[in-house]
Order: sequence, then C-alpha cells, then structure tokens
Amino acid sequence: MTMDENQQRAWRALGLGPVWDSRAGQVQREEQASPPGLSSSERSAGADRAVLPADQDGSGSVAVAELTAGQGEVSAMGWAALESSVAGCQACSLSQGRTQTVFGVGNRNADWMFIGEAPGAEEDARGEPFVGQAGRLLDNMFAAIGLSRSKDVFIANVLKCRPPHNRDPLPAEVGSCEPFLARQIALVDPRIIVVMGRFAAQTLLRTDASISSLRGRVHGFALGERTVPVVVTYHPAYLLRTPSDKGKSWSDLCLARALAAQAS
Ligand code: SF4
Repeated sequence: MTMDENQQRAWRALGLGPVWDSRAGQVQREEQASPPGLSSSERSAGADRAVLPADQDGSGSVAVAELTAGQGEVSAMGWAALESSVAGCQACSLSQGRTQTVFGVGNRNADWMFIGEAPGAEEDARGEPFVGQAGRLLDNMFAAIGLSRSKDVFIANVLKCRPPHNRDPLPAEVGSCEPFLARQIALVDPRIIVVMGRFAAQTLLRTDASISSLRGRVHGFALGERTVPVVVTYHPAYLLRTPSDKGKSWSDLCLARALAAQAS
C-alpha cells in the first residue's frame, strides 16, 4: 500500500520519519530527515515485519487462545442487550468507583478490532475508550495504515470500568468482565485483532509472557470454527512515555495490515 498525503501526515505526527512501504518486498524511503529516537535498526525492523513470518501464516503453527464466554445470557446477547447489560453491571467492585462504564466504539462490523486494558480517568469521564493524548496517538496510528476510528475499527477494553488510580486489574475483575469482551469479539467477528499493551495481550492470549516476547509473532484467537489472527503491540500510553518504541509499533501495524490483507 502506498501512503497518501493524509497517511503521510499521520506518519509524521507519529514522529516516525521515513516512510517504509512493504509492497512487493520493496522498501521506499521518503526524502526527509530521520527523527530523533528512531534508529536505523528500528526502521529496518518495521520494513521486515511487513512480511508475514514464514511459519506463522495461518498454516497451523499458531497457538490459539479463547476467552470464557460466560454462562447463560451474555453469550447469546445482541448489541443492544450487551450494551445495556454492561451499563448496569455490578459484578465486581469496580462498579462502585466508576463514573460510567466504557463499552467500546467504532464500526460494529469492522474487519479490525483493537483491544486495550481498561478505562483511564478521561475515558471514565467521557464514556469512550482511548481519548485524550493516547487516543490521538492511536488515531494517528490508524491513519498511518489507512484506517479511521469511526469506519474501519472497533475499539474495546478488557475491563469496562476504571480501576482506581489506574492500578492493574485484578484476576477476579477480569474474570467477571471477560464474557462481555468475548461477546463483543463474537459480534464484531473481526478479520484481525490487535491487542495493545502487556495486560490486554496476556489476558487475551492466556499467557504471562512479556510483551517483548509476544510482539513480532502471529497469535490466534478461536472464534467458532475460525481462528482470528492476533498481533500484539504496545499501548499508546506507553508509546507516549517511550517514543523510541514507536518504530516497533509501526512494524506491528505492518504485520497486522499484511494479515488483514491476506484474510480478505
Ligand atoms: S469491570 Fe466489568 S465486571 Fe466489573 S463492574 Fe464493570 S462491567 Fe461489570
């Protein structure tokens, strides 16, 4: 895919500098200076990862994970019932400290699903995931691969209520909330899932492995008869604190884009 002007603007807003394009194995470089904080090896990694790992192309070597769909009603709910059920949920103690639940946004029939950890203060106040600075960065990441938040993706968190002081979610909270996410994934029925951050990746993939070991590989998520490819990347809030890892995140998005193209 060749970047249009909007994508190139988003690319520059990401602070990533040269444009790498993976089409036909060619790497093209935009004629501009490299930004500080992005090494040549990180840029090269971005180009390399645009090509699917040879042994992880959906041919059977992918470890497949799944979530607990929950007993009873949630696993059979449509969107309206699910949204209403989340809004009124008091299944864990996080319900006591929330301003409101944060259900998820985007196209409910999207090919792409992005999954994060839990609402922060701004998300809790506005009822929408990934707003504020991290949200703007995520929107730029979408634009860099030709996606729009409203049209092309559905975004959700593992937890629908904000943990106090943004602490890590507790296992019991995840267990209580997991059926909602499982149902969201089933209803969206995405072609590709991108999980952002250590916690979301570990939850979705049922692992305690580090994010650095989970990145750069294709994972799988069982959805009925189908296995949905899953790519792990950094959380936008982490990238704001560690901009030197934006290049790695770009390589993850290139991998996801290649998988999405293969699945369509
Ligand atoms: S975090 Fe999930 S399980 Fe806990 S109260 Fe909120 S919606 Fe319910």
